[in-house]
Amino acid sequence: MFHNHRSGPSQNPVALHPSGPGYNMAHQPPYNPTQVKGPMPPGPGLYNSGPYQPVPLVGSYQAPPGQPMLHRPSMGPPQPMTPPQSASPGPGLRMPPAQATPPPPVSANSYYQHPPSWQYGAPPPIGAPPSMAVPQHGPVANHVTSSPSPAPPQLSVGYNAAPPAIHNTMQPLGPPATLQGYTQPGSAPPMNSMVAPQSYQPGMRVPIAPPPTMRPTPPPTGTPNATPPPPLVPKTDGHIQTPGNGAPFPNSLDHLETGHTMTGPAPPPGPPARHMGQSYPALPPGYQNTSAPPNASPMHHPMQTPSQPYSHAPQQYQQTSAGPAQLSPSLAGLSLQSQTPEALRVVNLLQERNLLPPGPISPPTPCLPQDLQKINCHPEVFRSTLTSIPQTQSLLNKAKLPLGLLLHPFKDLTQLPVVTSSTIVRCRSCRTYINPFVSFLDQRRWKCNLCYRVNDVPEEFMYNPVSRSYGEPHKRPEVQNATIEFIAPSEYMLRPPQPAVYLFVLDVSHNAVETGYLDVVCQSLLENINSLPGDSRTKIGFITFDSTIHFYNLQEGLSQPQMLIVSDIEDIFLPTPDSLLVNLDECTEMVQDLLKSLPHMFGKTMETQSALGPALQAAFKLLSPTGGRVSVFQTQLPNLGVGSLKSREDPNQRASAKDIQHLSPATDFYKKLALDCSGQQVAVDLFLLSSQYCDLASLGCISRYSAGSVYYYPSYHQQHNPAQVECFQKDLKRYLTRKIGFEAVMRIRCTKGLSIHTFHGNFFVRSTDLLSLPNVNPDAGFAVQMSIEENLVDMQVVSFQAALLYTSSKGERRIRVHTLCLPVVNSLSDIFAGADVQAITGLLASMAVDRSVTASLSDARDAMTNASIDSLTSYRTSVLTIQQPGLLAPACLRLFPLYILALLKQKAFRTGTSTKLDDRVFAMCQLKYQPLAYVMLMIHPALYRVDDLTDEGALNISERTIPQPRVQQLSVEKLSREGAFLMDAGSVIYLWIGRNCNPNFLTQVLGVPSYPAVPQNMTMLPELDTAESQRTRAFIGWLREQRPFFPILHVVRDESPLKASFMQNMIEDRTESALSYYEFLLHIQQQVSK
Ligand SMILES: [Zn+2]
Repeated sequence: MFHNHRSGPSQNPVALHPSGPGYNMAHQPPYNPTQVKGPMPPGPGLYNSGPYQPVPLVGSYQAPPGQPMLHRPSMGPPQPMTPPQSASPGPGLRMPPAQATPPPPVSANSYYQHPPSWQYGAPPPIGAPPSMAVPQHGPVANHVTSSPSPAPPQLSVGYNAAPPAIHNTMQPLGPPATLQGYTQPGSAPPMNSMVAPQSYQPGMRVPIAPPPTMRPTPPPTGTPNATPPPPLVPKTDGHIQTPGNGAPFPNSLDHLETGHTMTGPAPPPGPPARHMGQSYPALPPGYQNTSAPPNASPMHHPMQTPSQPYSHAPQQYQQTSAGPAQLSPSLAGLSLQSQTPEALRVVNLLQERNLLPPGPISPPTPCLPQDLQKINCHPEVFRSTLTSIPQTQSLLNKAKLPLGLLLHPFKDLTQLPVVTSSTIVRCRSCRTYINPFVSFLDQRRWKCNLCYRVNDVPEEFMYNPVSRSYGEPHKRPEVQNATIEFIAPSEYMLRPPQPAVYLFVLDVSHNAVETGYLDVVCQSLLENINSLPGDSRTKIGFITFDSTIHFYNLQEGLSQPQMLIVSDIEDIFLPTPDSLLVNLDECTEMVQDLLKSLPHMFGKTMETQSALGPALQAAFKLLSPTGGRVSVFQTQLPNLGVGSLKSREDPNQRASAKDIQHLSPATDFYKKLALDCSGQQVAVDLFLLSSQYCDLASLGCISRYSAGSVYYYPSYHQQHNPAQVECFQKDLKRYLTRKIGFEAVMRIRCTKGLSIHTFHGNFFVRSTDLLSLPNVNPDAGFAVQMSIEENLVDMQVVSFQAALLYTSSKGERRIRVHTLCLPVVNSLSDIFAGADVQAITGLLASMAVDRSVTASLSDARDAMTNASIDSLTSYRTSVLTIQQPGLLAPACLRLFPLYILALLKQKAFRTGTSTKLDDRVFAMCQLKYQPLAYVMLMIHPALYRVDDLTDEGALNISERTIPQPRVQQLSVEKLSREGAFLMDAGSVIYLWIGRNCNPNFLTQVLGVPSYPAVPQNMTMLPELDTAESQRTRAFIGWLREQRPFFPILHVVRDESPLKASFMQNMIEDRTESALSYYEFLLHIQQQVSK
């Protein structure tokens, strides 16, 4: 029910969304409020018509012959979008009061800038603010002759012609001189009028109306439709309308997340009826400990079984004295030295060879009182490299361990408490959301755990909708759950939540057609079109491109989709801006027609050129008025128009080069366009399917800075590479149906004294602690380096809070809040005892990617090696009291050198092994934006022997028996010719078959009589009705279920071309160019003993 986006009332979006100033604001530059004086400069004219205007007929666009050239505004928002990085931060910025100067801004590419060695305590780099300058085309004469084009050919006609013929016979449509809605320069309304409350037209929509299945019965005061809709813009908060206080731009979502001003009293809770049509206490419980919507959780997540913290019922929680103020007694007995002998157990790495635990490695548990730990944020969502935070930066520097957070903020959760409330309770000073780690001084006052301000408990908060009781604010769901989601009231929006908008941009050059990928995309879309997240407002559109750009008019009422070709790629315009993105509900048949025709339309094309840059510009223009998601499919190096690239890779140098060149982009075109996209709430996801070099280092920027995703399918070919095709199909299904958040921002707050140093992931850094995420998806991870600015001497615990404000595909503004609480310690041994080796490795990998690009790969490799040497040296000299020979590590860091060696041998960082540049760059992308769990499998795959699987110790999940073989060391020593071994490397799974493999396994699992009969390119196990087959398939299926993407299975035998890839993951072994694990340990020992 929930994922049926058509379940809502069928509404005509044109009628629902008359163009209003509020919407036009979408075209305005979002970033620099202080630069805006006087009337807003004109928005790009074409955008102005917006998708909410009545749609003019295509015919009305035909310009008469000899029509003067149309002067069109520049492509991007007219105002330079310089972020307020150099200016003093607006009120939206959290600024710890004691901090005299704001921390230096962190740019999206603020690489770690201390080449000689990594100093974790180094001052934040002052990354040059990413250039936000919009290409200023200025009013440019249109190069396209606007002679009357023949009526745009009908699809059925044009498609049959060979593409060159299409090109010749179809005149590009000149931009009409009479474009409806075109705004003359200077004619845009002054900006204040744009945020005036009257811009909202009652009856337009009900942005926060609850979807029927998500929340309890509608408020007693009326049905959602009858409820006066909330204002589109804050009515009373002056800070939003005052330029000095923040721009009234709809895109300035940072202000929204920030909410009210940071000083001055919080506005009294307005009459609740204003927002929700009811006052809170009268509400039917607006809180649900509900399961996630079906489309949010297609995967089974074993980490969130009901025994996990997410699912404990709030009522069970007995805490009455959370927060630092009450912690002293309970923490008093928690001296780490006495409590955690295992984490600090001394391990001599040179002697203890097998350090791998038999199963998955669980993160360390922070040393907190049990009642706090019980409700702490789940480590899969939010964890720290150090689960005990050093009291001072100098202590942290001494430990030589990186301090940072790893987040998976939008992860699919099986249980997520959702709160509906007209007043979201937040600290009046720092805007922290109330959370389980605040302290209640009494029933009416709570103390913020981040800034320590004492706040009043609002009257509404006294009522607990779960227990339906009054006077127990500490039992509210907000205070019982470290992960919680709020349905945001209207003050969290400056424009109505945007609809779900999906634009597909498809390469249809000869090369693209050859790969056959178009069939898969169109088929997959046809199959999943009803599962695209959205509601009755969802819009969809298509652009195809080769040397020209092809648009598709899908307007309701046409008999067929209409193809419109624009061959002037120098100065892209939209031929019929209002009919290229259409309401999916209303135009489903037209969309299906197009998807059925597309794969055949370009079947005979000989066009080899690829104008990707202009196609992306077109996509940006099309989506600018609303925001949304662009999915780009590209199969070759773009070689025409802006953004064209040249091959920079010399295949002969792959293995021998001393250092790797061309890891940074060749042009800033893609980054600039991505930043423009980000400013208009547009994210670009890139699917790269290619057999040759495509310069992912340059192309990837389009996704990186717009908060998109990158998918890469090297050697993709429909016939020659069936495994890739299967992988692509599975990925697409997940991609099309997974949850999506639009126009999102994420802010990370931390206890006063701590500050954010650098972010890692795909986003644009809006300000010191705020990430701009035009889209957010459940498979995206982030990392954050932290530093300690002020000593945390008086604190027992510190907290970190990530707040993700987004628009759901149903048009609700929602805020997902995660709060992590960690103890503060003042001894090195306590810091070491709390070290989370996987989180440390993940953060170091992100840092090393940055270093590879800004400095060099060899620098990055040295830095990683030094990280392990330095921390073990610190441990040896400062923690160990009794000196002993050997290479010593605390048990919690015993895998650190192994993981570092694994990183050095990982595709992203390895040297001396032939590695395609795009493969390397893609690995780097994955290390930066994948959640830690998947990153760890990429770095250190899990190896299992599977020819002797038994049910002993097996898991039992949903009546399936899942064998749990022991994890083996990654060494050829562990392989046996008599066995079969499964290697789970994250995005790929290898099943290696020994030459003398147990015949039983061959017949019962692989279905072949003998080793030579194992097919060369086997990627699937036959479904045999044998216990061995069932066990093996159950195990592989279980591994696959634990990640949102689909790892391909390759059966590998001695002659297999993939044997090399399998063997390269044998990290502990020596290769021609890299040390064995033992040699590496000896190297470290040498350095440590110096
Ligand atoms: Zn506070």
